[in-house]
Amino acid sequence: MMNRRQFLTAAAFGTLALALPARSLFAGVQPHVVVLGGGVGGATFAKYLKMQDRNVRVTVIEKNPTYMRPYGSTEVITGHIGMKDLEVGYDVLKNKYGVEFVFDRVTGGDLDKRSLKLASGTTMTYDKLVVSPGIELMYDKVEGYSEAVANTDIPSAWIPGKQTQLLADQLKAMPQGGTFVMVAPPNPYRCPPGPYERAALVTEWCEKHNPTAKIIILDPKNEFVTDKNMLLGWNRLYNFNISAEFMEGMPSDVKIHNTPSKLEWIRAKDGGKVKSIDANSKTVTFEGGSIKADVLNIIPPQRAGKIAQDLGLSDDKGWCPVNLTDFASNHFKDVYVLGDATHGGMTPKSGFSANSQAKVTAMAVIDALAGREPNENPVWENTCYALAGSDYGLFVADVFRLKEGNVMYRVNPDRYPSLHQTPAQIRLGAVYQQTWMRTFTQDCFA
Ligand SMILES: Cc1cc2nc3c(=O)[nH]c(=O)nc-3n(C[C@H](O)[C@H](O)[C@H](O)COP(=O)(O)OP(=O)(O)OC[C@H]3O[C@@H](n4cnc5c(N)ncnc54)[C@H](O)[C@@H]3O)c2cc1C
Repeated sequence: MMNRRQFLTAAAFGTLALALPARSLFAGVQPHVVVLGGGVGGATFAKYLKMQDRNVRVTVIEKNPTYMRPYGSTEVITGHIGMKDLEVGYDVLKNKYGVEFVFDRVTGGDLDKRSLKLASGTTMTYDKLVVSPGIELMYDKVEGYSEAVANTDIPSAWIPGKQTQLLADQLKAMPQGGTFVMVAPPNPYRCPPGPYERAALVTEWCEKHNPTAKIIILDPKNEFVTDKNMLLGWNRLYNFNISAEFMEGMPSDVKIHNTPSKLEWIRAKDGGKVKSIDANSKTVTFEGGSIKADVLNIIPPQRAGKIAQDLGLSDDKGWCPVNLTDFASNHFKDVYVLGDATHGGMTPKSGFSANSQAKVTAMAVIDALAGREPNENPVWENTCYALAGSDYGLFVADVFRLKEGNVMYRVNPDRYPSLHQTPAQIRLGAVYQQTWMRTFTQDCFA
């Protein structure tokens, strides 16, 4: 066994693989920990639990034999990468760490009896269960929209798959001078800067391939995390005019453009909230008017993955309440919920957060199996990198601690890059984003 400090130091420096423990707390008995969902939260948890103690049996139940990563999936839409590049396999987790995999869909269960039902008809029991099923997209919350429409005509592409390729194909086929409309989701949702990064990258793509196209974001919100850095990038790259509320602290090179921007952001206060869509004509009716789109991308309201609802882990807001020290479910004993599906205090619904939560919870589960109390002062981290253009990087970075019963970050202006960064620093932000994507995937899955 590593102690907590050794574990966290090894995690931070990526040397855990070299430091697999030889001794076990559980010689003679083999606790069985089942993980529902082999995405970022589930895979990271399984790996780090095995690193803590190889004698614990860890079984991941995942419905797809290959994971398709959502982070970075907008790059498929703009053709920087292909769908294959989103695929991540589970061989290293199996062969190097001894994680067992069952490729099947969990359809229900009785968590009072510590039992899950799988689509194949099998039952799986556990000593501890960790649930990280991601999100469910509530297509029907947008009047006129549905999953069937999303799969054929108006993709959401917020969970990667066929809709991602469909949106990429639609963008390529958009007529010259066409209109790309994105409907942004209400809070809370997966990847807070993601919709705005997608709009930016689509705008950049159109600069090259469809220079008279227009990109419009319809938003039920008035702001988003990283907004000032993103808007500054849009001002520099796409003639976007920054409205007065965001101007404080902006550098002197911000321009007032006389030509209309390719990219328009219609906020809630300007009537951006969508009322309904007509799927046949791709016409969106919103509080401020209506627009006929050539390509329509709707990112609908979200809640915890469906299985979390079915198992009774969520509350009336649709997310899973947990004890914020160790992410143990408030509804069932011996069950933990990670990642996008939780009410994780102020940690955002990001891959980085899911990964950080998984590491803290791996320690907590080992403590629980050993009959110890979890660490009372856990620390989580998050950095969301985002692009305003492929060479224009920005981020929000936070460290979270428990405070007054909540998981909170320290309010600190340095969580964002300075608005006065040099062009080289901005380019470096984009390099970090790409590098993070690779090393992060390794940290979760290899
Ligand atoms: C366009 C976009 C860009 C993003 N960019 C970033 C970024 O730059 N940085 C960042 O940190 N995050 C980013 N994210 C967010 C990040 O991908 C998610 O926050 C992260 O994947 C959440 O991890 P998770 O484990 O909660 O869910 P997921 O990674 O979605 O994993 C859930 C897994 O559960 C499985 N599952 C679900 N139900 C069942 C069932 N019934 N039976 C069996 N298996 C099941 C699914 O198949 C899936 O593999 C981005 C997301 C998007 C959409």
